[in-house]
Amino acid sequence: MVALTRSREDLARAGAGLSRSRLRPPAQPSRRVQERGECRRRADPHGCASRALRRPDARGAACAAAIGCTDARGARRDRVRSRGDRRDGCRQVRRSGAMIDFSIPEETRLLVDTVRRFVETEVQPLEDVVEQTATVPADALAVTKAKAQKLGLYAMNMPADVGGGGLSCVEHCLVEEEFGRTSDALIRRVFGQVYPMLMACKGDQVERYLKPTVKGDKICAMAITEPGAGSDAASISTTAHLDGDEWVLNGTKHFISDGDIADYIILMALTDKDKRARGGITLFLVDRDTPGFKVARTQPMMGHRGYGHAELSFEDCRIPKAAVLGEVGGGFKLIMQSVLQIRLAHIGARAVGMAQRALEMMRKHAGERRQFGQLIGEFQMVQKLIADSATEIFGVKMMVMNAAWDIDQGKDARDKVSMIKVAASEMQGRVVDRAIQVFGGMGFSKDLPLERMYRDARVTRIYDGTSEIHRMLVARSTIKNGLQL
Ligand SMILES: Cc1cc2nc3c(=O)[nH]c(=O)nc-3n(C[C@H](O)[C@H](O)[C@H](O)COP(=O)(O)OP(=O)(O)OC[C@H]3O[C@@H](n4cnc5c(N)ncnc54)[C@H](O)[C@@H]3O)c2cc1C
Repeated sequence: MVALTRSREDLARAGAGLSRSRLRPPAQPSRRVQERGECRRRADPHGCASRALRRPDARGAACAAAIGCTDARGARRDRVRSRGDRRDGCRQVRRSGAMIDFSIPEETRLLVDTVRRFVETEVQPLEDVVEQTATVPADALAVTKAKAQKLGLYAMNMPADVGGGGLSCVEHCLVEEEFGRTSDALIRRVFGQVYPMLMACKGDQVERYLKPTVKGDKICAMAITEPGAGSDAASISTTAHLDGDEWVLNGTKHFISDGDIADYIILMALTDKDKRARGGITLFLVDRDTPGFKVARTQPMMGHRGYGHAELSFEDCRIPKAAVLGEVGGGFKLIMQSVLQIRLAHIGARAVGMAQRALEMMRKHAGERRQFGQLIGEFQMVQKLIADSATEIFGVKMMVMNAAWDIDQGKDARDKVSMIKVAASEMQGRVVDRAIQVFGGMGFSKDLPLERMYRDARVTRIYDGTSEIHRMLVARSTIKNGLQL
């Protein structure tokens, strides 16, 4: 097992700490890598590697043809593989399909690169103004959102036949990882926050709610939590009762993200007090200007500046009988199905993206900052902060990819997603905290995005189910069924 034997040099390095050369700031990419990038950009000048590449229409075909250089890379890679296959018995096993292939297809890699470039060049520059003003400036947003839409980067979580990205769950998580490199307010406004349960729209609802939301013309909020019902969502007290051809809504929701600006609300209400989660909870689509509905107040938060969280009140609020989303009594199930992918992508994948950004910052700083006459990255205690972060990010990334793959195979990934919700949110907090430590006083200052990331990361242990609730679910399932991987 030659590949597993570490060279003497490697062992010495592991014992004595990293060599100086490995602590230098990230090197410029090699000429060959630069050329590959140029080739890619030349072929795909707008970075249009997403929907255009996926659609079997003329534009998609033209764009696919234009990236001939990537096909050439693919051919080269195949040649290298088959050479390796002949030499290496282990690779022959892979060829027969007995081993898992973790490689990312070229088309997906292009898409992810496009999103990363877009986030770095178009979105991250807006972060400071959002933090300072607590709003996403309308003029800059109009330009950036239009660019994202033109590239097919809006509502990427939704199926292609309703105008979304048409991505697999694995692809969607890879994209969300890149989104995680910027703030939630900007992700919402530039790339869209389209709740997957909108796929339950039927009849007129499709044109009135689903399509305009996917297109970016309407903003939607999802209202489940109440002052008296948080973790125990089935204990809500907001009610809906039928009166002739109308539902009458009464109750209060709070902490509702975008509740202050949403064009309409997906509201969870009780339609049968005895049945509750077992057929007594229904989802409704409530327009913003409906009499009886009002935004009672906005609720200032520790982080996530740039979008609001609101208390919403419903007092004898009358909506049409046809405003039910999905089936009467089917609301709890629909919410639970939808939040699975939201948790995986918005918490799991985004946590990996934010943590990677923090790790890149601390790695660079450790290779540049000198104290006591040497680079701080040569101090073993600083190395530990970096090593622990890299290790944890890798672990969570693999968990996210594994669960996403399960979902793509139609498998039940609920337990895994609960584990990921806990592991990702807690990893994210620890990594950003370590990054602040590596930067010292600079890490605590508002000159760097780390203090924002620190505040923003905190809530991921609370919303979409607290760490305690998800641990409870994992424990119950593991005690009952054992660990099902
Ligand atoms: C920034 C932000 C945005 C949000 N956005 C939305 C939104 O858009 N829509 C929406 O509907 N909601 C939203 N929420 C609400 C969020 O989902 C809830 O805050 C969350 O579910 C927790 O509920 P709670 O705050 O009532 O806490 P509680 O349920 O009161 O929990 C308090 C504490 O008790 C613990 N606890 C509760 N039950 C158990 C148990 N069985 N075992 C062990 N410990 C337990 C919890 O883990 C927690 O530590 C948002 C919240 C925030 C902060």
